[in-house]
Amino acid sequence: MTLHWINGEWTPSQGGGMRQIQDPATLEVVAEVVEGTASDANATVDAASAAFAHWRRVPGIEKALLMHEIARAMRDDVKELSRLLTREGGKPRIENMDEVEWCAACFDYYAEIGRNSYGNSVPPVAEHQLNFTIKEPLGVVAAIVPFNYPLLLMCWKIAPALAAGNTVVIKPSELTPLATLRLCEKVFALLPKGVINVVLGTGAGVGEALVEHPKVACVAFTGSTAVGTQIAVKAAQQLKRVNLELGGIDPLIVFEDADIDVAVHGSAWARFLNAGQVCTSAKRIYVVKSIADEFIEKFVAHTRSLVVGNGMNADTDVGPLISQKALDRVQNQVERTLAAGAKLLCGGKRLDVGPGYFWAPTVLSEVGPTLPSVNEELFGPVASILAVEDADQAIALAAASDYGLGANIYTTNLTYAMKAMHEIKAGTFWINDPLTDNDAAPFGGMRKSGMGRELGEEGLDAFRETKHVHLDYMPEKKSYWFPNKTRQGELPSQ
Ligand code: NAD
Repeated sequence: MTLHWINGEWTPSQGGGMRQIQDPATLEVVAEVVEGTASDANATVDAASAAFAHWRRVPGIEKALLMHEIARAMRDDVKELSRLLTREGGKPRIENMDEVEWCAACFDYYAEIGRNSYGNSVPPVAEHQLNFTIKEPLGVVAAIVPFNYPLLLMCWKIAPALAAGNTVVIKPSELTPLATLRLCEKVFALLPKGVINVVLGTGAGVGEALVEHPKVACVAFTGSTAVGTQIAVKAAQQLKRVNLELGGIDPLIVFEDADIDVAVHGSAWARFLNAGQVCTSAKRIYVVKSIADEFIEKFVAHTRSLVVGNGMNADTDVGPLISQKALDRVQNQVERTLAAGAKLLCGGKRLDVGPGYFWAPTVLSEVGPTLPSVNEELFGPVASILAVEDADQAIALAAASDYGLGANIYTTNLTYAMKAMHEIKAGTFWINDPLTDNDAAPFGGMRKSGMGRELGEEGLDAFRETKHVHLDYMPEKKSYWFPNKTRQGELPSQ
């Protein structure tokens, strides 16, 4: 049984129950953890709030050393962390090893830029004055994390938040808390008590209590647009900062000049990675008509070659979906898309490769712009392809969305690339290399995909306030203080 991690100690729940964590490939129970309550959430916030008084004053160099140590400790534990990530989330283990490395790299990055950035000085408005800004931490940050990249999306929040001098409360997804818990004793314990706390439970049980707690200064959330919207409304009542990384229905365009083999493999990766459970996966694929037949034929052949199975097996390309609910939803979305006129080219069914939640990688063609699989976020291994007349139609369709997380194109035609870049609203625009992130470059969404940015310097500023300091080092009476007596001659006569 596993407990909350509060103020550097394993702490039982105040009145909560228990939850079984299930392996989505085998349906075995991997662990039992506590399921917290609002009282538990309050206790974690109190611990983080008490630790803030000290942590905000820790010099940059000391914080940087600690954060590099955290990165090292994560890398040292990659074997067990990747095993737990695969057991609780289903993603192939090799991809979870990558996830752990990206987490460590994120800590290394913010260790450095955190100690390198503290504000600016600007020219003063008068002599013997100085004007500068300092960057201050916000206080307690609640980091609310989804199931699909449990450690990475947590680190994109907590590394910059800590570097900026905040303390944090982490709420992992109730489906995937185990790798996060593994970090507590092995990694988070490297920091002073209370700087990082972990509370377990559901959105309703502990998430809402964190959002509503007056001592939580900022909610950093990654998850669905529906939940993100609820959080924004609640946070607004206290004018609390939010960083919202939400859902996406990203487009991918293959223009006629693209290298088809590269585009086929890249698009399939962009759609089927993590069994399609990626916020930025290519959920709408537009292919220009002149190459559509060849592209689709090769895409289907490649899709059929992907190995579906338990992510612990070395040859698995695509693991299970996270839950029965997720599987039912994908099935329902595929059925409604087919009923509305799309064509099934492969997959389209559950797979019996184990007891778990497996869905066959699926290719749908003739997916018109109003069909369910491209109008709702489809979180599963289902590629929706539409052959379009030409580049202009592809760009227009790609741009016509309420969401704006990422967008991908395959072309070396500069005119197509620049037109698409300007027309499509997206926080990240990938040309010829889908889904590659960079710690030093901002990541986030526009429109219904959220607000705020993670990573890069923007990701650090998400957890800081700017204070302007105005300093006069030769105090004197100013001529403009109640100037009626001295400056009457300047007044207009009427
Ligand atoms: P979800 O919204 O169901 O849950 C996300 C987290 O929010 C979980 O920890 C959950 O317990 C918590 N939560 C739920 N209700 C809450 C409430 N009322 N108050 C506070 N917390 C609450 O999302 P999910 O199913 O775990 O993840 C999939 C979604 O996340 C997809 O929509 C996907 O696109 C999105 N996502 C976005 C990004 C991004 O960077 N933009 C990255 C990954 C996933």
